[in-house]
Amino acid sequence: MKTIIAANWKMNKTRPQAVAVAGDVAASLKESPVPEREVLIFPPATCLDCVSAAADNMYETGIQNLYPAEEGAFTGEIAPGMVHDAGGTWALIGHSERRHIFMEPDDFIATKVNFTLAHDLKVMLCVGETLPEREAGQLRAVLLRQLTSALSGQAAGAVGRIAIAYEPVWAIGTGKTAGSQEILEAHEIIRDILRMVFTSGDEVPILYGGSVKPANAAEILALDNVNGLLVGGASLEARSFLDIVRAGL
Ligand code: PEP
Repeated sequence: MKTIIAANWKMNKTRPQAVAVAGDVAASLKESPVPEREVLIFPPATCLDCVSAAADNMYETGIQNLYPAEEGAFTGEIAPGMVHDAGGTWALIGHSERRHIFMEPDDFIATKVNFTLAHDLKVMLCVGETLPEREAGQLRAVLLRQLTSALSGQAAGAVGRIAIAYEPVWAIGTGKTAGSQEILEAHEIIRDILRMVFTSGDEVPILYGGSVKPANAAEILALDNVNGLLVGGASLEARSFLDIVRAGL
């Protein structure tokens, strides 16, 4: 499987700012292709169409969140059809900021995963424990709960259209990266759970996310069961994101 390097821009960038970075990333990938990597950008919804156009087929794009309905009275929400229309092919579901700031529970996240896949978008499902959960020895229990609630209803055909992002909540946007042992342990637990849920669980990519920078990307990518990276802060500038895309090559 190809290593996925994904950018989560969160609530950053106006349309001109987004197009500038998206265009620089596309130009660099065109000039020096990186066939070992699958590159994705999740811009804010307001920029999804222009970032998809600026991608110039060098990478795919996705929405950071969506609502599980085709249309209707859901003020402020985005439907899968709108994502297709704006050129997106992926949806980020269950990011820790959605779980913890917007209080999205596991069953709502599961509904979103089902709806997203049923509407022909790929899913990047984010999972991860908080610091108190880790300190209470609940890492495996949390990952088991988050993954089985979102994935156990899925048919085998979902493999190939789902990626998992392991993002320890205490490492997101904090500058604190999980250590190699912590990443290895969590990714092995996730791999075991994926094997329980899908007969081809080995084929589901598991990305690490949490304060990834150009300086630590290669080391993390070299770890067992790390099939990519989800990058927040360091993806906001083309140069640092591209350094991460090319890390370890
Ligand atoms: C994220 O938003 O998914 C993330 C990992 O952010 P950061 O890289 O800034 O920690």
